[in-house]
Amino acid sequence: MGTTLAPPPLNPPERLLMGPGPSNPDPRVLEAMTKNPVGHLDPYFVDLMDETMGALRNVYRTTNHHTIPISGTGSAGLETILVNLLEAGDSAVVGVNGYFGNRLAELARRTGADVRVIEAAPGEIADPAEYEKLLADRPAKLVAFVHVETTTGACQPIAPIVESAKRHGALVMADCVTSLAGIPLDIDALGLDAAGSCTQKGLGAPAGLGPITVGPRAMEAVANRKTKPATWYFDLSLLFQYWGGDGATKKRAFHHTAPIQSIYGIHEALRLVLEEGLDARWARHQAAHEQLVTGLEGMGLAMFTPAANQCATINVVGVPDGVDELRVRNRLLSMGVEMGGGLGVLAGKVWRVGTMGYNAQPARVEKFLGALDEAIVEERKVFESYEGRR
Ligand SMILES: *Cc1c(COP(=O)(O)O)cnc(C)c1O
Repeated sequence: MGTTLAPPPLNPPERLLMGPGPSNPDPRVLEAMTKNPVGHLDPYFVDLMDETMGALRNVYRTTNHHTIPISGTGSAGLETILVNLLEAGDSAVVGVNGYFGNRLAELARRTGADVRVIEAAPGEIADPAEYEKLLADRPAKLVAFVHVETTTGACQPIAPIVESAKRHGALVMADCVTSLAGIPLDIDALGLDAAGSCTQKGLGAPAGLGPITVGPRAMEAVANRKTKPATWYFDLSLLFQYWGGDGATKKRAFHHTAPIQSIYGIHEALRLVLEEGLDARWARHQAAHEQLVTGLEGMGLAMFTPAANQCATINVVGVPDGVDELRVRNRLLSMGVEMGGGLGVLAGKVWRVGTMGYNAQPARVEKFLGALDEAIVEERKVFESYEGRR
């Protein structure tokens, strides 16, 4: 027989989360998430859904009605867009310059679409002329790419890709998981047809939702599908029977139980962004990024991402000689500070440091820099004595 003993109560350590996500939520967001639960069809909640959609539109800078948080993390939002816009036999062009670009291509392939890939080396961005060339060669229904490739730190300029896509009649979507609420992003001015993000990076909330926006051209493509999407949970047509298809009616059809407390969280996070103002928030992130890079370079480290491709939310820095990268990260964690390691081909070669959301503040960046310096100095002593014994 199993034991009837309950486990001890939770006692999670306090961490400064300076990795590529999650970042520390704003305390106001955590507080909002403890408010009274209500039902997912409660009139109070229906109003809150409308408010959340409105605030999310403002943060995405769009008038797209179809702007909602998908239940699931950022990946769920991106998957929702791809499985609704693509079906078997469609053609897609996907930009790949790291792990998350590959992920987008894989999501696209799983719809049965024919996927052509435009590759760029880690840290680099794709040349917009390559999109032009591929699309001129053969049209595509959808062009998809990653705005900020979190594994390499490279920021892909959106405008030239949209220009090519539009010229050739393709819809265009971007993975804005590491850009929303951290660096300039204006969905309508850029002409993006769809974008997806997450809650745990620039928005400063816990992970759990995938905020997406889908424009009218893209919704038209959804309505004109030959087949239903293979997904039921992420079917946009069904989701908007719950979220409100036109914004005019409060009539809501049950689809799945909305994660009420998470919606409280994103509602407060969006409120915080709009209170601060997007321009001020982008400037705060830029200042934190510059402070961090100056500090890292002052310690003798070299940024991995070329300066021209860097962006304010994620900082990818080379691991210096004379230390074991994992031991430095573990030592840092024992000091209560988390940063990320490299993924894929960059494993063991870089560290990834986020300056996102609530953490994009001078005191937090300074605390991180102090801790990293100490961890490296301590590790060098160990490494040298070890090397000396060989
Ligand atoms: C973090 C990240 C994702 C995945 O988001 P989840 O919330 O972890 O599902 C996707 N794309 C990029 C660029 C990311 O940085």
